[in-house]
Amino acid sequence: MTSWKQNVRQVVPYTPGEQPKQQNIIKLNTNENPYPPSPRVSQAIAKVSADSLRRYPDPTCASLVDAIAKYHGVDASNVFVGVGSDDVLAMSFLTFFNSDRPILFPDITYSFYDVWADLFRIPYNQKPLDSDFKLVASDYEGPCGGIVIPNPNAPTGVAEPVEFFEKIVESHPECVVIIDEAYVDFGAKSCLELVRKYDNVLVVRTFSKSRAMAGNRIGYAIGNAELIKYLSDCKFSFNSYTMDTITLAAGVASIEDDSYFKEKVDAVIATREWTKEQLKGLGFTFPDSKSNFIFAKHEFVNAVSIFEELKKRGIFVRHFSKPERIANYLRISIGTDEEMCSFIEKLKK
Ligand SMILES: *Cc1c(COP(=O)(O)O)cnc(C)c1O
Repeated sequence: MTSWKQNVRQVVPYTPGEQPKQQNIIKLNTNENPYPPSPRVSQAIAKVSADSLRRYPDPTCASLVDAIAKYHGVDASNVFVGVGSDDVLAMSFLTFFNSDRPILFPDITYSFYDVWADLFRIPYNQKPLDSDFKLVASDYEGPCGGIVIPNPNAPTGVAEPVEFFEKIVESHPECVVIIDEAYVDFGAKSCLELVRKYDNVLVVRTFSKSRAMAGNRIGYAIGNAELIKYLSDCKFSFNSYTMDTITLAAGVASIEDDSYFKEKVDAVIATREWTKEQLKGLGFTFPDSKSNFIFAKHEFVNAVSIFEELKKRGIFVRHFSKPERIANYLRISIGTDEEMCSFIEKLKK
């Protein structure tokens, strides 16, 4: 029997972290920022008149593109913006990963990469991290259809130096290398400098973590003007008006308040370092994190039972049951000092 189902594009979707409805919980499960965005963001949102929403937003997102370009000291032609970096990454997969050769990414990494690859029917090979959760350079040698790696990696928090990525980019003129810098503001070194030297590298960033604007959905990519042109061509063949009027205004306001941004990022880093010490004292081990989360396991107590016990006490962290070798780890996002104190107190119990 033939069925319409055989013509359906069937996929196994990405599962986002839980967004619990109850109040008074401590939410350390989706790497959100515990601080609000810059006060300038709320002022900018308040200034948008509802009447202006009659009009379509600027499809080129010029105000936001210009603000990001100025911030990074690049030309507007080097910047692409989208609805969160998930949108930017999905468009980049569609645009640049169009080869019969497999694309490469780590086995333990952002769990959206294999979903997009499956969705777009892109062949892929996942390269195992070593036992310290480090990338193995030799895994990324030889011709391939493309490479995507987060730096720092997620959910491990482990960062690699720029030279590590430069070797990969330099040895792969046949494909595009995407470096997903979702967490780079929390202490890793950015690969943005590679964009000036190589035409096959795309650096992707987001406002969701370090800029505390996950609810607005702003992501962007920086690359050679030709790459950005190809990316824009695909975007304009899919959905022209990706960014709404209110979000564009909010994004510009955030970029313009750099001192607030730095202050809050520094606060998260300080709390992270404090939390590392506390966790060590309680018998947890973890790879050194340069992000706004810590990927930790306990020497005796099983991750699932810690996860469940914390949840009962109103504290949400993230647990990944796959792949098997990370099933005993918890990913703990960094909250405020107060939240982390309470988290440590409950862990002790
Ligand atoms: C959070 C995250 C993203 C997606 O962020 P958006 O909210 O879509 O901007 C992309 N990559 C990694 C590694 C992430 O952790």
